[in-house]
Amino acid sequence: MRHVVVIGGGVVGLTTAWALLESGCQVSLVEKESGLAMGASRANGGQLSYRFVSPLADEGVPIKALRWLFETDGPLRFRPEMQLHQWAWLASFLSNCRGSVNRRTTRRLLALGAFSQAVFSGFYSSAKLDAVSLRTPGKLVLYRNDKEFTRVTRRLGSGGDTIEQVLSPQACLHLEPALANSPVRWAGGVFTSGEAVADCYALSIQLGERIQAHPSFKGLIHAQALGFGVEGGRAVALRTTQGDLVGDEFVIAAGLHSRALARAVGIELPIYPLKGYSLSAPIGNDHLPPVVSVTDVEKKILYTRIGSELRVAAMADLVGDDATIDPARIASLHRSVRATLPMAAEFAQSKEWAGLRPATPSGAPILGATPVPGLWLNVGHGALGFTLAFGSAQVLADLVCGRPSPLPLDGLQLA
Ligand SMILES: Cc1cc2nc3c(=O)[nH]c(=O)nc-3n(C[C@H](O)[C@H](O)[C@H](O)COP(=O)(O)OP(=O)(O)OC[C@H]3O[C@@H](n4cnc5c(N)ncnc54)[C@H](O)[C@@H]3O)c2cc1C
Repeated sequence: MRHVVVIGGGVVGLTTAWALLESGCQVSLVEKESGLAMGASRANGGQLSYRFVSPLADEGVPIKALRWLFETDGPLRFRPEMQLHQWAWLASFLSNCRGSVNRRTTRRLLALGAFSQAVFSGFYSSAKLDAVSLRTPGKLVLYRNDKEFTRVTRRLGSGGDTIEQVLSPQACLHLEPALANSPVRWAGGVFTSGEAVADCYALSIQLGERIQAHPSFKGLIHAQALGFGVEGGRAVALRTTQGDLVGDEFVIAAGLHSRALARAVGIELPIYPLKGYSLSAPIGNDHLPPVVSVTDVEKKILYTRIGSELRVAAMADLVGDDATIDPARIASLHRSVRATLPMAAEFAQSKEWAGLRPATPSGAPILGATPVPGLWLNVGHGALGFTLAFGSAQVLADLVCGRPSPLPLDGLQLA
């Protein structure tokens, strides 16, 4: 039986480990923290957003980004670093800010999203997970700006797509009565039924338990992966702070830190942290939280009910590899939320969190083989890691086991 070492115990590494075990491999999992899912998977927006996948890089975004930088409570911050990597990523991001590139990447992400939805639903119906707060309320994307709303609805219309429903402000209110308490004048919304929400952390922890109970699981090693032992050009061992771990295949699924690991064998990954924040606010009897999952698209704020809490996730700050909570940004998020859905939850009692999205310039993850035989990648899921995790993991498992990829991988592989 082939022994595969998976590096990273976030939602992407865990789903990869599971898919490999179910494909007949022996698996070891290496995680540097003392618990699982302590990185970007910890308190994300919880949206399984299979249809709303449009990447950040798009036509007009550079101009919008300049405006956002000067807005007091804008969704973006930029701190220049003395690192070539930041500037190279930015240059590549800007070159992806074209309508044609955005449409191409969106098509690829839609295919991966649909596949991920199918894999997840197969897993969920057999795994009998509890307390992951899975619901399928659909997703309402709200627009404040009339021009932007018209532009988006025209684009939807020209795609001949019938799944998304374009809604007037009144129809939005009818669909989501919690908007009656919003002082915002909305231009309209786009609703997609079938979109799901769940607690990514709870799901990761339960998946971790199932992995550890699997007969082919060799062990969870809490150690930091440092690099690889390579013999005859092939990866044969993982170097960790607890010693070397020998294996047949190695999968890097270490989120943002995949970049440093790949660099140890001369592979440059175009991944940069897009820092985001979340609030998890308790919902009391007097609150009126949204039932559908809501995205305030111009503010880039998501509202998702997860169990008895409202999860609010926002912001994309380019401030380097720094996951500390900036009090000014959290205060800004509180202001935005209270000015939008003031009655939705007890925001004064929120748990606050910051995480780093492992983002590629195009917004597409990088899956599959590397130039080093035996070394594989499942990285760069950016703002969609929870959504795409199950599909990406199945692609990886198929490739590692010598099966063809279940979907075309152009644009989803290491360039
Ligand atoms: C504010 C915010 C909101 C979001 N909302 C959503 C959403 O609604 N829907 C969605 O689909 N996605 C969302 N995302 C994105 C999603 O959370 C990420 O894409 C996803 O969690 C990435 O998973 P990962 O496993 O690749 O990375 P991580 O969860 O960061 O896991 C990487 C793991 O690797 C470990 N590791 C790193 N280096 C090493 C090493 N050298 N050795 C051993 N272990 C190592 C880390 O400790 C960590 O546990 C959001 C992200 C943020 C920040």
